[in-house]
Amino acid sequence: MWGGLMKTLSVDRIASKGIAMGNAYVLQKQDLSPENYEISANQIDSEIMKYDNAVKEAASQIEILAQKSDIFTAHLELVKDISLYGGVTNRIRNELQNAQVALDLTAAEFCAIFDSMEDEYMRERSADIKDIRNRLMRLLKGIGQTDLKSIQDKVILIAEDLAPSDTSSLNLDYILGFLTELGGVTSHVCIIARNLELPALVGVPDLLTSIHNDDFLILDAVTGKIIINPDDSTIHRYESLKQDYVNKRKELERSSFLPATTIDGRTVKICANVGNIEDVRKATTHHIDGIGLFRSEFLYMENSHFPTEEEQFTVYKEAASLCSSELIIRTLDIGGDKSLPYYKFETEENPFLGWRAIRISLELEDVFKAQLRAILRASAFGNVKIMYPMIISMEELNKANEILTACKCELEAEGLAFNPDIKVGIMIETPAAVLCAANFAKHVDFFSIGTNDLTQYVLAVDRGNKKISALYDSFHPAVVQSIKHIIDAAHAENIEVGMCGEFAGDEKATTLLLGLGLDEFSMAAGETANIKNIIRNSSYEKAKECAKRAAAAYTLQEVKKELSII
Ligand code: PEP
Ligand code: MG
Repeated sequence: MWGGLMKTLSVDRIASKGIAMGNAYVLQKQDLSPENYEISANQIDSEIMKYDNAVKEAASQIEILAQKSDIFTAHLELVKDISLYGGVTNRIRNELQNAQVALDLTAAEFCAIFDSMEDEYMRERSADIKDIRNRLMRLLKGIGQTDLKSIQDKVILIAEDLAPSDTSSLNLDYILGFLTELGGVTSHVCIIARNLELPALVGVPDLLTSIHNDDFLILDAVTGKIIINPDDSTIHRYESLKQDYVNKRKELERSSFLPATTIDGRTVKICANVGNIEDVRKATTHHIDGIGLFRSEFLYMENSHFPTEEEQFTVYKEAASLCSSELIIRTLDIGGDKSLPYYKFETEENPFLGWRAIRISLELEDVFKAQLRAILRASAFGNVKIMYPMIISMEELNKANEILTACKCELEAEGLAFNPDIKVGIMIETPAAVLCAANFAKHVDFFSIGTNDLTQYVLAVDRGNKKISALYDSFHPAVVQSIKHIIDAAHAENIEVGMCGEFAGDEKATTLLLGLGLDEFSMAAGETANIKNIIRNSSYEKAKECAKRAAAAYTLQEVKKELSII
């Protein structure tokens, strides 16, 4: 028996399947606002000393981090910067502000100066100042470091929420699984967890009040349970359940070299979604028909600058060589919940309806061109395809293609090899793209349905908002009918249609998608063997009938009833 009473929390949606057991590491919410205590003239020296100590400690923390990532090299210069130091200590000395308030005001002043600068690089320094300010404030307030990089034991990570940028600073060797109080199953932390094949549950009510640091946990992301401080017999039971789960996965993997062909002869492609070259290496150990989605934005997020053409070319070329069959690289899909540590995005009221994906690429043309040139050059090494995200109009598609043509001309003039007939497709993930699918189908080589966004935009339900997560359901008749409409529009023009949203890896949706005629299912690599097995045991004719009935249903419940999933 472990310390504390055994308690079970249940969750109805699984973010990433698997079972993990281990100690909890709770990432606490932190109040980093300054305390407003007053100081007198004879406290000036001691207040400056507090600040000096914080600067010394911050510098030594950052020195260690700078050895691993050059993002922190700039932070090291800033924390020692003489004008920042002078600004804070002058406020303590001349205005009798305490060190916390002096730091807060000085950092805000610096951020405002950087924000107003013309030069983009200088504007981006504002984010660095905020980071330094928070590090120093934590030290001044005596709040423990929650640097995710500092996790050094194998733990189950517990957080209110995890931003994609948080997960990129994790040492994943130490993470057994994730639990978050907020977030939906299509949030990017779940996507990362699935790519890494780490068990995860999100949207867990009362998580942070129920679990404390070092509680022993069973994270059952197969049936959707968290058992806190389990007794010995529960631990033994889960040890054998975990083994059964692993054995079952191995058994599925063993037959997964066979094609995804139904019992009556319909063959579809089963592909993997990836976020970086590590994922590609891992995915290609599974029997997949290619990479249906390379989320290139992670390359940008895990960097300290916009990756250069050469840097990207190295990655895409290796990926192309690893997956000979097909590699669909989606151009930068940043914005929404995905930010960059080195680029300042203006605060937006509705970021998912804001400056995102192709909208950014078309505006930051140099950034877009560097990426397109890198993808084109990689196309000389494999079956590389380009995919544009978040398209809403023919104008966007035409503009993106114009830039692509310009890149091709440049490469040709420079004598650099590329595939001149590279296939170009679009994500169908906005209602505008659904309604205009028949038009788009005449001008692209393929579609890929992004159900994560499509569901949120069709239903007007934020994909990451826990409060309305019950409304976020891709089986909603509006989403099902949209999928049918997209597939029919693609097939009318004889182009292939895939799906790279999380719905493609949902075993409850396989009959529906197969029956609607989807050509390619792309999902986290860990799910591929299971979906392939379901397809190999299905009848296409029966799936078609079933999908027809489901697509004609009026209510969510009726859709699910037709698919026999309730
Ligand atoms: C989608 O929206 O379904 C998709 C695959 O893109 P992302 O999840 O990266 O927004
Ligand atoms: Mg999307």
